[in-house]
Amino acid sequence: MSSFHPPQRILMGPGPSDIHPRVLQALSRPTVGHLDPEFVRMMDELKDLLRYAFQTRNEVTFAVSAPGSAGMEACFVNLVEPGDTVVVCRNGVFGERMRQNVERCGGRAVVVDDEWGRPVDPDKLEATLRQHPEAKIVAFVHAETSTGAASDAQALARIARDHGCLTIVDTVTSLGGMPVRVDEWGLDAVYSGSQKCLSCVPGLAPVTFGERALEKLRSRRTPVQSWFLDLNLVLGYWGGDGKRTYHHTAPVNGLYALHEALTLLREEGIENAWRRHRLHHRALRAGLEAMGLGFVVDEPHRLPQLNAVFAPEGVDEAAVRRRLLEDYSLEIGAGLGAFAGRVWRIGLMGYAAKRQNVLVCLGALEAALADAGAPVDRGAAVAAALGVYGTQS
Ligand SMILES: *Cc1c(COP(=O)(O)O)cnc(C)c1O
Repeated sequence: MSSFHPPQRILMGPGPSDIHPRVLQALSRPTVGHLDPEFVRMMDELKDLLRYAFQTRNEVTFAVSAPGSAGMEACFVNLVEPGDTVVVCRNGVFGERMRQNVERCGGRAVVVDDEWGRPVDPDKLEATLRQHPEAKIVAFVHAETSTGAASDAQALARIARDHGCLTIVDTVTSLGGMPVRVDEWGLDAVYSGSQKCLSCVPGLAPVTFGERALEKLRSRRTPVQSWFLDLNLVLGYWGGDGKRTYHHTAPVNGLYALHEALTLLREEGIENAWRRHRLHHRALRAGLEAMGLGFVVDEPHRLPQLNAVFAPEGVDEAAVRRRLLEDYSLEIGAGLGAFAGRVWRIGLMGYAAKRQNVLVCLGALEAALADAGAPVDRGAAVAAALGVYGTQS
């Protein structure tokens, strides 16, 4: 046995994404106690930085000490009571997980299905809510990482509100990579993850809860079934009044890293970060199309930070990914569920959304495809991407 030294990868999959050196350095700063006054001061700043990322003034905004999936559970276990009807919009893997969460909380899930690769259809949600006046909550995924489709969170939230429902919204892949405006859009309970467009280490789940969501929590008839995720208890530690009490040992160094990642976002300016994701998406898209690869999602609904394309017929997509990893230390994502074996998911998340990554990815993919016998026009992809950058600056 000796120390573990991971290889230096370029992470262009569905997360985790490349991490800025400043974030990794922050992680190695001295550990302090999780109730140390200096640490508590850092936590207060972190809450402010998270409010900036979520574009919210919500008091209850913090990071759950666990990955995005725990952020999801935190929203469902606190807001869904046994017997509650919850409308779940499902257009990929993560919508299905929401449905499972509802049922594990004893709720009744009414599913609005849309085809994989399509956004959630607001008209279907409207029709479903008309048929289910007893519904209390609408849950949907803003950015479906399994397909690369963006849904119109603002429109879905407006419909939910018109029908007197709260919203639970998954912004794991959208936060930091495209507009997420919690207050302006009236979202009630929102969760995210640290390792996608925030480019922090995995294992933390930013969450924010608005007043209407807290009202529902306060009026519960039954206790929250999860001890660890019960907001009433967690807020004794993360709460705003400064009197912190022990709930669990916070992942101290991970929170330094999140603080640094969010500081980087603030320095760049969130609108600039959104623009940067779009720019590199346009360059990557030009290159992928020059290689003849077709996108899974129609143009207006594509996520800039997650580009899902069909692998060419007859090409062993897993062999190509292996080639990229071995020869270029480049990771791209495989297809999930219905798309397994047919689709590549190329992430441009956070610190990974940059010109050198786009050009390396296109050059490497082109070489791997040519070797696999696919008909590619050598050099065309990088040239197409450079064309997009040329028209910028
Ligand atoms: C990655 C992801 C999750 C789960 O996050 P983990 O940190 O892997 O638990 C949930 N929802 C979406 C849309 C995701 O992309």
